[in-house]
Amino acid sequence: MDNVTLDTLTDWLSRFHAAVTERRDYLTELDSAIGDAEHGANMARGMAAVMAKIDVARPGTVDELLKTVGMTLVSSVGGASGPLYGTFFLRMGIACGAVCELTPEALGSGLRAGLDGVLQRGKAELGDKTMYDALFPALEAYATAVAAGSGAPGAIDAAADAARLGRDATVPMVARKGRASYLGERSVGHLDPGATSAAMLISSLAAAMAG
Ligand code: ADP
Ligand code: MG
Repeated sequence: MDNVTLDTLTDWLSRFHAAVTERRDYLTELDSAIGDAEHGANMARGMAAVMAKIDVARPGTVDELLKTVGMTLVSSVGGASGPLYGTFFLRMGIACGAVCELTPEALGSGLRAGLDGVLQRGKAELGDKTMYDALFPALEAYATAVAAGSGAPGAIDAAADAARLGRDATVPMVARKGRASYLGERSVGHLDPGATSAAMLISSLAAAMAG
């Protein structure tokens, strides 16, 4: 009853697409402070390509859906975020397997596998001022809530709160990965664009689960 269906996961992607499209200029503004002013355009273009692809392909299983998302992001978005988000979805898809719905535990393991992919690819550590700073606390909060008996919707709400806190905690950090790291100390005082889109990724899933 508490399982996460393919429809909910598709709704997640559609809400994430809407979120990055609505906030494209905001994400770009964040990236103009400490990067090359294209994070909003990157994410909006990538998610538009994803929605077009799944509309045609109509994936029938969780792994098909998420692998399609990952491959589309890798091929349609340049820069750091395309391969990183792409890897996240590819690895999550592989971990979830050819199923039509996910238990709360399986969703947690899938998200964790996605995050492990981001780590392997980007080698970020906590405090490096990246998307990892939003995603890691989110998945910890999710796992803690599920272990305490929460269903997937409650756990993902806790994860979304933790992701927002993680995002905000990037402001005083010195960037140590990606383009922002070229600025060194001058990256202090700005929100990380990737942590901001990553918090949107988790809150979009919470919104999809809330229905
Ligand atoms: P680019 O950095 O190529 O301009 P984007 O602007 O689309 O690409 O994405 C920048 C975001 O990517 C950063 O805000 C950061 O969160 C994330 N990022 C960059 N490098 C890494 C990394 N090595 N590991 C994790 N996240 C990273
Ligand atoms: Mg950029």
